[in-house]
Amino acid sequence: MTMSATPDVHSGFADFPAGFRGTLLRPDSDRYDAARALYQGRAADRGPTLIVQCVDADDVATVLRYASAHGIPVAVRGGGHGSDGYAMPAGALVVDLSSMKAITVDPSTRVVRAEPGVLLGELDAATQRHGLTVPAGTVTSTGVAGLTLGGGIGHLMRRYGATVDNLLACELVTVDGRTVRADETDNPELFWALRGGGGNFGVVTAFEYRAHPVGPDVVAGQLIFPIEQAADVLAGLPAVMAAAPRELGLLAAVAPAPALPSLPAQAHGRPVLALVPVHSGEVATARRDIDPLAALGRPVADLVAPMPWLRANSMLDAVAPYGKRMNLRGGYLPALDTDAITTVLANAAAAPAHPDAATTINLWCMGGAISEDTAEDAMAFSREGAAWLWEAVSMWDSSEHDALYEQWATAMAEAMRPHSLTNGYTNLTDDQGPQWRRTVHGSEDKHRRLRAVKAAWDPENLLRFNKNITPESAAPVH
Ligand SMILES: Cc1cc2nc3c(=O)[nH]c(=O)nc-3n(C[C@H](O)[C@H](O)[C@H](O)COP(=O)(O)OP(=O)(O)OC[C@H]3O[C@@H](n4cnc5c(N)ncnc54)[C@H](O)[C@@H]3O)c2cc1C
Repeated sequence: MTMSATPDVHSGFADFPAGFRGTLLRPDSDRYDAARALYQGRAADRGPTLIVQCVDADDVATVLRYASAHGIPVAVRGGGHGSDGYAMPAGALVVDLSSMKAITVDPSTRVVRAEPGVLLGELDAATQRHGLTVPAGTVTSTGVAGLTLGGGIGHLMRRYGATVDNLLACELVTVDGRTVRADETDNPELFWALRGGGGNFGVVTAFEYRAHPVGPDVVAGQLIFPIEQAADVLAGLPAVMAAAPRELGLLAAVAPAPALPSLPAQAHGRPVLALVPVHSGEVATARRDIDPLAALGRPVADLVAPMPWLRANSMLDAVAPYGKRMNLRGGYLPALDTDAITTVLANAAAAPAHPDAATTINLWCMGGAISEDTAEDAMAFSREGAAWLWEAVSMWDSSEHDALYEQWATAMAEAMRPHSLTNGYTNLTDDQGPQWRRTVHGSEDKHRRLRAVKAAWDPENLLRFNKNITPESAAPVH
């Protein structure tokens, strides 16, 4: 986690523009602590110098003009789920967008506009009123902003692609305070970079998406297998999913067992394999596509059933408590083969196990729309060669355990490296440094292109609290 390399900003901000309509929060303000709370609990160890809560795009422009004029680097808070804690770095000036929450849905065009403080659960609720949804992530408290700018994957990615594949436009305030639109015709190169390049190029004040009909009911839930069956069940997944329709999304998780009555008490909290299918096609026949997953072993619990899409797309909230200390590693797998499976299971077994902690290794099945419908070079987000995405997340309470969980995550990532591609999904791993940032978007050409866009829109790298792309003119990263 990289939150300390922050030059302290000017003391006082006495000359902050009077025209600003939002709220300024300093460390001695009543609401400062609530405002700086992030999903990543470790971010609470040290706080920013000033949190600037904006009410609209004009406010954002005011702050950015001020920051530009003084050469002050700016952090951006959308939904607050970034695992690096870049949204609230120590000593920084933070543009907080969390109160900008307007959503409009046009059911006739299926175009949805969302401001950057919108959370996924809010977007889902607004679109489902019209029988629609924007393909996005799986935990309702995640923000649309950071998720979209990194890519956005979830239960619908095999059917409708990543969130960025459904992004039509961004409204953005540039670091020098101009308001611009980026889409396929206005500022197309900027739009290319915004779809996967993260918060490097400006502050997005609205996203426009194409929504799709889903639900109201889908067939979803969990199939839980004892850990002893995990290797065989995982080995069978690629063949089952190769024959499955795009409507079937699948997450496989090696995770602590939920306290279910169907599991013996001594198994609660110990690792199991959970398959999490979400079928967004015909409810009446969905089970035909899901049964081959159950048949890969002898599940101790089959919790798959028809349920509202809103429930299916919030079932993982239960394993995503806010404010825990956490870390995250991940990467793309070209194949879920025996070696990768063995490595996943060996590392899961070696995870530290404190009573206040939980470690989960997720394997997301790609394929279908996310893999086949959009060319690798069409946008910054990379997916070339990825058949599965692995993601390891640990959560714990005590700072005394930081080093131990960090050590485990580093060892896990090292062990997975020979099985993983060099490109990856930026949002589902902590920042792994300059060499990783150089390859994570795919080819060297894509990286060069991102650096050129950065140089055009943020030449001084004012937006540097992120998985940073250095401007082309800066010393190249080796
Ligand atoms: C519990 C949990 C579940 C998750 N599940 C999924 C999932 O299912 N699918 C998935 O794809 N990802 C998932 N993620 C990862 C998620 O996409 C990233 O953490 C994402 O960065 C969250 O965005 P945010 O706005 O909530 O976070 P923030 O921490 O507010 O933002 C992250 C970064 O994005 C940039 N940023 C934010 N808003 C703006 C803006 N308006 N303009 C410019 N830059 C901005 C900033 O650099 C900021 O540091 C999950 C993360 C967590 C913690």
